[in-house]
Amino acid sequence: MTPKVNRRTKIVATIGPGSESEDMIARLIAAGVNVFRLNFSHGTSEQHAEVARRIRKQSAIAGRYVGILADLQGPKIRISTFRDDAIELAAGDSFRLDLTLAEGEGDSRGVGLDYRELCSSVSRGDTLLLDDGRIRLRVDEVEASAVNCTVLIGGKLSSRKGINRLGGGLAAPALTTKDMADIDSLTEVRPDFVAVSFVSSEEDIFQTRELLQKHGMDPGIIAKIERAEVVADGDVLNGIILASLGVMVARGDLGVEVGDAQLIGIQKELIARARKMDRVVITATQMMESMIDSSMPTRAEVFDVANAVLDGTDAVMLSAETAVGKYPVEVVAAMADAALGAERQAVARTSHYRLDRQFSSPQETIAMSAIYAANHYSDVRGIACLTESGNTPLLMSRLSSGLPIFGLSSKAETLQKLCLCRGVIPLYFDASVFDHDEVDAQAIEFLKDGGYLQRGDAILLTKGTVMGRSGSTNIIKILPVQ
Ligand code: PGA
Ligand code: MN
Repeated sequence: MTPKVNRRTKIVATIGPGSESEDMIARLIAAGVNVFRLNFSHGTSEQHAEVARRIRKQSAIAGRYVGILADLQGPKIRISTFRDDAIELAAGDSFRLDLTLAEGEGDSRGVGLDYRELCSSVSRGDTLLLDDGRIRLRVDEVEASAVNCTVLIGGKLSSRKGINRLGGGLAAPALTTKDMADIDSLTEVRPDFVAVSFVSSEEDIFQTRELLQKHGMDPGIIAKIERAEVVADGDVLNGIILASLGVMVARGDLGVEVGDAQLIGIQKELIARARKMDRVVITATQMMESMIDSSMPTRAEVFDVANAVLDGTDAVMLSAETAVGKYPVEVVAAMADAALGAERQAVARTSHYRLDRQFSSPQETIAMSAIYAANHYSDVRGIACLTESGNTPLLMSRLSSGLPIFGLSSKAETLQKLCLCRGVIPLYFDASVFDHDEVDAQAIEFLKDGGYLQRGDAILLTKGTVMGRSGSTNIIKILPVQ
């Protein structure tokens, strides 16, 4: 029996009308989804709770840990609504953003907006971007409660489209009243991860965690990096990263604010920074956009996924592709394929082991040593990591390697959180039912039974002298598989 080929990069897929049925969820899990994203910009809390039940049920049937990420809408600034469905704007037209216009009063001359700070946040000469940058306006004049603009790039504009300022600066507090109500409703979903949109400081993350903990929940918090001013300020960015379990490179909004040409550099920097700080990172938005309507990705899309993998991302994300696209299963398979191709490259398997760094705990020292040993001793087929909190496999997965990290734990929350970590395979293993001197052999037997190892292989195993205590990993062993 040849051991299984395991994809290391994780896939996050957004649920929507095209993928919310139980049958589709089962097929998406089979195709390789590791984490489902529930987008709280759409749908009711009852709908999200129902989808969460389906995901839990189908992942149990599949016998795999599949995570749930609840993505809060956040303060996306949007225009209000038009009298008709949509208007048509042409380059050179005048258009007015007018705070005094009510819902339904918009027309081709102007539209309302619920963002009270508009007039103090923009100045003459600014560029405003509507509908993810499809429409561009130049600000000509700022009045007390309206802004007069000239259309630079026109097109169709419908109600409630988002608005960004080139360079950033349209900011509102990260948690809206709706977000807070959504957090209250999460007791029904019990997500493994919660994503906070338009984060502007670590305070947003602290506040979210506090609200979640009030309801007895402690999911991993993902900070969506989608504001130009956050990536421009290294200290603010570091604070946000440290406060969170991980970050999302939210290329949709960020790309609109900074321009796509700047985005590739920012993506690489964010991924490197998150990994260096022992945090996870998801690369998101329009990775395989053409597959909304097409059964095959373009080469550019395959390369986009591959590049994110080579950059070191933990996960790649699908949005509209699986939420409303015609080919949800095919796009997951195509993404998995692109990731696997990139993972075969030597750069994705080697690492410089933090040569310039002092380690700060026995746990980190063991984790780093294990990866070093695994990458340099060719008999080793993987690392069995007996873990309580999941922190040791997380640390291991911050370095590149071609070998699987088996996160063995009896704690459901730990196994669920490991769904996002690159190269980590979460597996339920209860070490406490075995005698102390039997545990290693039982762990190996368990991995052999699962088809992950075979006789003649060697495996690295890490654990703590006192098992069942988090942060106590202090042992590393190389063991033969009998
Ligand atoms: P969104 O976030 O899809 O919720 O807007 C991701 C992004 O902006 O890229
Ligand atoms: Mn966004």
